[in-house]
Amino acid sequence: MRQDVDETRRLLLLAGSVGVASTLYAGAPSAATAGGSPTPVDEGAVIGREVTFPPIDAPTDPPGNPPPNPDPPGQRVGFAVVGLGRLALQNILPAFAQSKHARLTGLVSGDPEKMRVIAAQYGVPREACCGYGEMARMRTNAAIQVVYVVLPNALHRDAVIQAAEAGKHVLCEKPMATSPDEAREMIEACRRADRKLMIAYRCQYELANRELVRRARGGELGDIQFVDAINTQDQGDPTQWRQIKNLSGGGSLPDVGLYCLNTTRALLGEEPIEVLARTHSPDRDARFREVEATVSFVLRFPSGIIANCVSSYSLHTQRNFRVLGSSANAEITNAFDYEGQKLIISRRDGNAEAKIELNLGAKNQFSLEMDHMAFCVRNDVEPRTPGEEGLQDQILMAAIYRSAQTGQAVRLEPVSRPDAFRGPALKEGST
Ligand code: NAD
Repeated sequence: MRQDVDETRRLLLLAGSVGVASTLYAGAPSAATAGGSPTPVDEGAVIGREVTFPPIDAPTDPPGNPPPNPDPPGQRVGFAVVGLGRLALQNILPAFAQSKHARLTGLVSGDPEKMRVIAAQYGVPREACCGYGEMARMRTNAAIQVVYVVLPNALHRDAVIQAAEAGKHVLCEKPMATSPDEAREMIEACRRADRKLMIAYRCQYELANRELVRRARGGELGDIQFVDAINTQDQGDPTQWRQIKNLSGGGSLPDVGLYCLNTTRALLGEEPIEVLARTHSPDRDARFREVEATVSFVLRFPSGIIANCVSSYSLHTQRNFRVLGSSANAEITNAFDYEGQKLIISRRDGNAEAKIELNLGAKNQFSLEMDHMAFCVRNDVEPRTPGEEGLQDQILMAAIYRSAQTGQAVRLEPVSRPDAFRGPALKEGST
């Protein structure tokens, strides 16, 4: 038996083709090896503009990823990235390589030397690069359809308004702004210009988070009654813009606590009717002269669900999201990180407690969110996370700060419509 398996593997290696492999797996002779002398073949069916392969894994094993079948470069939606800082250079620009519908076609920076180097690395033409105050120049560049704003939070408003006035759709990093009023101005500017505005809530596009939403809303956890969301990290350099209030709008809350807030809202589809919050910062710590380190906030939802959320800039990193239901619990480890998510569901199995760990494969969250924006532009669809979704978080964060200042719970206007501030649900092909 072992010899048979080894012989099959040898033939597979010789044939070098997955299509041939499936034939061998089924026990049929292969054309490529007929007569004992292997010849090269090229398998894979072409259907329209896509290539597919027949499955080679046994049905008892999970299937591998199909070929991504990206759009040809010239047919993708062009994005200009504004702000060439860490997130842009470390995560967003590299993510274009895994995108199927988006491509990098422009850059905006305050540093011409850095922009020249980055433009060369990514093949962006010189005429598609400009300074912060020059976005009006993009108006005549048809290769730029979307402007992706990746600046410090307090600079989002002006950049979004400039981009919309230049006739571009806008993808804006989170947090959308530093106040609800700024967020309203941004929505209004995009509405006036008839351009789409999407907030880059990457977790709503990430696979484990999406799977949890699907299962939880499908009733798999029973009656959900409690959510626990933690997003903490220990900040370094005390001079960085995140610790300067008029650039950031706040401390850990708008930066990392926002993930606890937004992910909880997106899971439940409800809006909180009450918040109660407390903040804490270590004494005499130069990092927290202007902004808070830790925020603990409790959200109460119309259905009675309680969410317990904690964010911090002075605690060792932890990014977990737990959902407790009457018949099962779910947890996503590294829920708010760029990668490494695991969805674990705990429930009874016979007389035992079972933990199922779902490995959903790793897809780049930034590519998924950019592809969604490209899909929305192309098909004239509202993004799943439009400006209104960002505004609602700004309203809730203002209420959280008010509660922390007064020590009192803050009541909020009830919102009865499910997913009231979101665009259509994501479906196959929309990311
Ligand atoms: P960063 O400090 O690394 O980069 C900021 C960029 O803005 C730099 O190129 C800097 O030169 C430029 N800039 C322009 N005016 C500035 C000013 N007055 N002060 C400081 N910098 C100025 O920051 P980052 O981590 O890239 O964050 C940028 C945005 O992306 C923020 O809104 C942040 O919240 C968001 N972000 C999102 C994620 C995510 O996971 N989606 C992760 C990190 C950051």
